[in-house]
Amino acid sequence: MTPRDIATENEPPQRLTNPMDWQPIDRFILLGFLVLLSPGLFTPSLLAALEYAPEYLNRTIAERMLVFWATHFLLLSGFIACAFWRRKTQSDWPLFENFIIGSYTVVILISSYMTGSHFTEGLLLLFLGVNITSVLANVRKIRAMYWLVAVSLILLAVNDFTGFFEHAPLLERSVYREDGSPAPIWLFIEVQTAVVLSALIYLCLIAVQRWVERESLYKEMSTTDGLTRLTNRRCFIQRGEQEIERMQRLPHSPETNLACIMLDLDHFKSINDTWGHHAGDAALVAAAEIMMANARKYDEVARYGGEEFAVLLPGADMDLAETVAERLRKRIAEETIDVDGQTIQFTASFGIASFPSHGLNDVNDLLKAADAALYEAKTSGRNRVVRAKADASEPGLHPA
Ligand code: GH3
Ligand code: MG
Ligand code: MG
Repeated sequence: MTPRDIATENEPPQRLTNPMDWQPIDRFILLGFLVLLSPGLFTPSLLAALEYAPEYLNRTIAERMLVFWATHFLLLSGFIACAFWRRKTQSDWPLFENFIIGSYTVVILISSYMTGSHFTEGLLLLFLGVNITSVLANVRKIRAMYWLVAVSLILLAVNDFTGFFEHAPLLERSVYREDGSPAPIWLFIEVQTAVVLSALIYLCLIAVQRWVERESLYKEMSTTDGLTRLTNRRCFIQRGEQEIERMQRLPHSPETNLACIMLDLDHFKSINDTWGHHAGDAALVAAAEIMMANARKYDEVARYGGEEFAVLLPGADMDLAETVAERLRKRIAEETIDVDGQTIQFTASFGIASFPSHGLNDVNDLLKAADAALYEAKTSGRNRVVRAKADASEPGLHPA
């Protein structure tokens, strides 16, 4: 099961899936189509300039540029066609990925050098390309592209200064008139470039938004239990460690107590065996809801294991924890759930411990003490609350 499957189990299906979840070859096809925009942008501009303002252009170089872009367009189209054919049997195609990243870089660098816009539009096109590609392709390859671009830009800057190679060789003369305003054809090309850049910026926005959505999905999945939506065990232990660290920094007061309740549903296996697994799941969700409804906002309620839950109560001592546990015990025992027309009732056993207590040094000791008390609640008849003995290492407690 992929993370997306888990996340969407209880949600309506999205119309368009996140491209970051596609198989690599499909992501490269999408990138391939985006990269086709570059010859799609440059070719009409150059053709228009050749038609309406040929006096600005070096015709030989213009024709070579057209051949260069046409070759790139044809090769990339060929790769995309092959990828469509391969995607049924192959999920990845590194050569295609290398071609997309490498050719995009080279085309943008050469094209912007030819028009002298390597530090303006050229750099912006590269920046947007890096942004979009880094969420869809291998970041190590994008980093290699970055270094190639950085070195090339330094060389171009040196060249602009020394004039070793001609500056903007595609242009026969300046596209700016004597009063500093751009020639109409250059203005037309700039507007066309701005339209394509706006589209790319919007795509970047979508890519970043998808990345943020994915991050929050993973964060939720790594901290939350999928069935009950309670905090998971790892996150619960982390919170306990933080609370104990915080308490140890402060002078002792009622605020620096930390209580822990551990509870385990009684004879839960028989609910599954008698009414089915879905009835067991419904009981787990009902128990979780009762605990959430009775928790204060700074308490931490977690699904600790299969049918075992834990609650951290910052600022609570043993007596308060016992009161809370008693209330939870009664609410759970009164709860009824309807499954397939049957009414099911269940109970839970509770163990409570509090920090600081003699023999408890960290969160693991606190959990062990609460677990030992829970074991005692089970062995002494279930559906009851038992307080931990002061020293968790006392004989007779539940072995870890
Ligand atoms: P006790 O009173 O001693 O705690 O008995 P019990 O039957 O509750 O405990 P036991 O450990 O024998 O069984 C726990 C059962 O919980 C077994 C397991 O299949 C079930 N279980 C664990 N996780 C889930 C879950 O997510 N959903 C369902 N439906 N059942 C689960
Ligand atoms: Mg149980
Ligand atoms: Mg259990």
